[in-house]
Amino acid sequence: MENCIFCKIIKGEIPSKKIYEDNLFIIFHDINPISKIHYLAVPKTHYATLGEMTTEDEKNLGKIFAKISSMQKELKLENGYRLVINQGNDAGQTIFHLHIHILAGQEMEFCV
Ligand code: 5GP
Ligand code: ZN
Repeated sequence: MENCIFCKIIKGEIPSKKIYEDNLFIIFHDINPISKIHYLAVPKTHYATLGEMTTEDEKNLGKIFAKISSMQKELKLENGYRLVINQGNDAGQTIFHLHIHILAGQEMEFCV
């Protein structure tokens, strides 16, 4: 998608502190972290919200969650972590390319 920041990061057109990449998704550091560990996991396919997923996207999102879980140690998440997906304006979504916030660290604030 043109003018999508996350599509540009995926294509390497905008730099990011990348941690992991495979054919389905990438993980990189959030530019403005709100906890000690704050990564973003971003599917390579562009869709804005869960409501826009194709059947293929649905399957891939399941695989992405499973992969994050299997990489707990490498991602320094072994003491626990939160996954957050903001959906729409009222939830504070600012980038309309679906992404999963991965949050960890003892000082993490709990909002729910
Ligand atoms: P949202 O509010 O849409 O759920 O989250 C968007 C996140 O993307 C925010 O936490 C914000 O800090 C992050 N972000 C926005 N632009 C960039 C960027 O250019 N690079 C990186 N690494 N993160 C970004
Ligand atoms: Zn995009």
